[in-house]
Amino acid sequence: MSAAKFEQIGQALREGVRFAVLGHVRPDGDALGSQLALGLSLKQLGKDVRIWNEEGMLEKYSFLPNANLLTKPPAEPEDVDVAIALDTAIQNRLGNSLPAVRSAKVWINIDHHPSNPGYGDLVYIDPKSPATGQILFELIKSEKLPIDAAIAENLYVAISTDTGSFQYPNTTARTFEIAAELVRAGVDVGRVSQLTYENYPRRRVELLRDLLGTMRFDANDRVASFSLSLATAKRLGVLPEDNEGLIDHLRAIRGVIVAVFFEELADGKVRVSMRSKSEKVNVCAICEKFGGGGHVLAAGARVRGSLAEVERKILEEVRDVVGRNS
Ligand code: AMP
Ligand code: MN
Ligand code: MN
Repeated sequence: MSAAKFEQIGQALREGVRFAVLGHVRPDGDALGSQLALGLSLKQLGKDVRIWNEEGMLEKYSFLPNANLLTKPPAEPEDVDVAIALDTAIQNRLGNSLPAVRSAKVWINIDHHPSNPGYGDLVYIDPKSPATGQILFELIKSEKLPIDAAIAENLYVAISTDTGSFQYPNTTARTFEIAAELVRAGVDVGRVSQLTYENYPRRRVELLRDLLGTMRFDANDRVASFSLSLATAKRLGVLPEDNEGLIDHLRAIRGVIVAVFFEELADGKVRVSMRSKSEKVNVCAICEKFGGGGHVLAAGARVRGSLAEVERKILEEVRDVVGRNS
C-alpha cells in the first residue's frame, strides 16, 4: 500500500514544475528539517522550489544545511503547481503560507499526526512514524529521489528532535536503521547534536528558572504543570522558539504521568502543550476536546480565556482523565 502511494507522490514530484514546500506554524525541528530536506531534493531534480513557513527560519535552527532557503511566505500569492504540507495536522496550521499558494493545482499532505483528517489530493499519513522526516526518508529511498549530506542532516535533525533524541516510545528499529543510513550519507552526529541540544541562548535557561517557580502538582503528583505569562515573557525577552522542550523537565519527574505547559498568548488565547507517559492517558483526546490535536503522548491546543481560567479548565479535565485511567 505504502509503495503505491509513494509512487503516486513520486510521479507528482517528477511531473510538477513549481513547488511550495510548507510546514506548520510554531515550527519544530521536524517541520523545518523536513521542509528543507524535501525542498533540497526537489531542487536537485531541477524544480522551481519555494520553502515557506509563517515564521521563516528560527534562529535556533539556522544551523540546518541551506537554512537560508526557508523563508516567510510573500504577501502576494505566487503561481505554483504543487503545494506540499509537511508535519501539519490540520491545513489551517499552515498559517499565512496558505493564502500564498492559492493557485496550487495539486496538494500533497505528508504527516504522522493521527488526528490529520487527510486533506489534499495525494495523502500519506503514517501515525506510527515518529517523525515526518522518517516518512520522507522512506519516500526518497522508495522513489529514488536525490539525497546528499545536506538533505541527510536535515532529515536527521527532524527525526532526532521528534523522537526526543531517539528516546520516545515511537522510536523503532527502523528509526535507528534510517539514522545509520543518514550517518553513512554524511551526518556528523557530534556536531549536529551539539548544535541541536547544547547551543541554547541564556534567556532560555532564565525562562526555565522562572517556569520552575510556577510549577504545581495535581492528582497526587501524577500531573505536573507550569505556566508563562505574557508579562514574564516580555520581561525575559524570550522568543516563542525558546520553550520547545522545556516541558520535558516536568515529564522527567518520577511518578508524573501528564505534564502541561500553559503559555499566555497576545490574542486572548492560551497555548496548551501536553505530554503523557502512559498510553492509557491519551492527551490528544483531551486536547481535541478543546479544539486542538496531536498524538496520544504529545498534543496541544489554543484555548480562549485568561491564563487562570484555562489552567483551571484544563487541569480539571486532566485530573479527571488521570483519575479514571491510572
Ligand atoms: P507542542 O506541545 O506544541 O510541541 O505540540 C505537540 C503536538 O501537538 C505536536 O505534534 C503538534 O502538532 C500538536 N499540536 C500542538 N498544538 C496544536 C493545535 N493547536 N492543534 C492541533 N495540534 C496541535
Ligand atoms: Mn511538528
Ligand atoms: Mn512531527
